[in-house]
Amino acid sequence: VRFLIIGGSDAGISAALRAHQLRPDAEVTVSLSDDFPNYSVCGLPFFISGETPDWHDLAHRTTFDGVRILKQHRARAVDPNQKIVTFEAHEQTLTIAYDRLLIATGARPVRPRITGLDLPGVYVLHTMGDSFRLHDAIVHRKPRSAVIVGSGYIGAEMADALTHKGIAVTVAGRSRWVLPTVDLQFGQIIEQELSAKGVRVTSAVEIADIAEHGSELAVRGADFECRADLVVVAAGVKPNAELGVAAGLATGAKGALRVDRKMMTSVPDVYAAGDCVQTWHRILDRHDYLPLGTTAHKQGRVAGENAVGGNREFGGTVGTQVVKIFDLVVARTGLLDREARENGFDAVTVESKQKDHKAYYPEAKDLRIRVTGDRKSGRLLGAQIIGPWGAEIAKRIDVFAFALYAGARVEELNDLDLSYTPPVGSPWDAVQMASQAWATQVERPL
Ligand SMILES: Cc1cc2nc3c(=O)[nH]c(=O)nc-3n(C[C@H](O)[C@H](O)[C@H](O)COP(=O)(O)OP(=O)(O)OC[C@H]3O[C@@H](n4cnc5c(N)ncnc54)[C@H](O)[C@@H]3O)c2cc1C
Repeated sequence: VRFLIIGGSDAGISAALRAHQLRPDAEVTVSLSDDFPNYSVCGLPFFISGETPDWHDLAHRTTFDGVRILKQHRARAVDPNQKIVTFEAHEQTLTIAYDRLLIATGARPVRPRITGLDLPGVYVLHTMGDSFRLHDAIVHRKPRSAVIVGSGYIGAEMADALTHKGIAVTVAGRSRWVLPTVDLQFGQIIEQELSAKGVRVTSAVEIADIAEHGSELAVRGADFECRADLVVVAAGVKPNAELGVAAGLATGAKGALRVDRKMMTSVPDVYAAGDCVQTWHRILDRHDYLPLGTTAHKQGRVAGENAVGGNREFGGTVGTQVVKIFDLVVARTGLLDREARENGFDAVTVESKQKDHKAYYPEAKDLRIRVTGDRKSGRLLGAQIIGPWGAEIAKRIDVFAFALYAGARVEELNDLDLSYTPPVGSPWDAVQMASQAWATQVERPL
């Protein structure tokens, strides 16, 4: 079987490796439009900050046994009737035939309606190429100030990264608080952390225009004006679905390619995975668009397995995410209270403060945990945790994530056999204490 993959990042490479693992006799080919197969896009902020100084270290892997890698091969058209893909490669046009095709072309940054986005000094961060341009500007132009347009997780990570480089950062976000993927209460803690590290934060601002002003850039919106040497636009992403759409593939949530849980598109023998597709949401029981590297890897693996004859279903996302911002880590899984209500649940959210390990052992840290559950059924719907880096926040959100995956009730978290020794936990782990706080507020006495 000839398995051709368009896209050589998280989804495409996961698919290729899985297909080769299951069918070593399959002819697996991965094409990508740049020179960087399977580099960690998620690591770009740390290359920019200098914490990972050598970009080569961002490679998830450098050898791809049994998989043919075609760098600088940009797919221009897919013909599902003849089962061929036309590529532009090194200024030549060529076609490659396939038996099974995977489209894993990722996402592209949203270009908000702001004039001046193409001015020198305005950057996005989405590909290795973007990171080289931004890195060069920092090294050679030595900017002293920057405005980041967008206050989602990439905007927040970039505020941290540029501050690390000694640049004075202003974050200007459209949302009412930084990191709107968590509740306001946590957004406020993040804003305090940013302020404490010298980052100026302006929320609920719509940037309209960027203009040259002498050697600086003037960034303007209603009631907002800021001059800076550098602007980074981090306003979210949208599916890079045009290639598939032009080939007749149906679209679903937010214009992403429509796939079923086997990652099959609406066209026979064409699979799709990663940031270009819609994602099945396990709690909402429908598709949504939630582009993340962790999801792209899983979808790619499922697609790779099925493309060579397997019969696997993508388990679905539960909306798990974690980010480090300076000395804070903030994580979420499942639905926020607002999202749960919008989707018909009788949501109750209870916040509690827990120690990450026994207080008598040195350096115990406070975690704030918000548990969201359904009042009627007691079903766990979501959780959010914020606390200092090093406090095993990701481990704990992952316990909630698995409970969500399993469809557990909040009370059932107390049955989990979690690890315990005083320097790292408590006999009732913080996850369980937070679940008990929820139950205390919601349950009636016997
Ligand atoms: C700065 C940053 C930080 C992030 N941090 C995290 C994080 O901490 N955790 C997390 O889970 N996610 C994170 N993400 C998101 C994550 O990187 C993406 O979800 C993930 O890279 C998606 O993988 P993908 O394979 O679908 O697409 P992409 O990584 O976007 O790759 C697309 C691939 O398709 C190729 N391609 C596109 N068009 C064509 C064409 N026409 N022909 C040939 N090849 C083509 C490209 O060359 C590339 O190889 C971050 C993203 C960014 C930008």
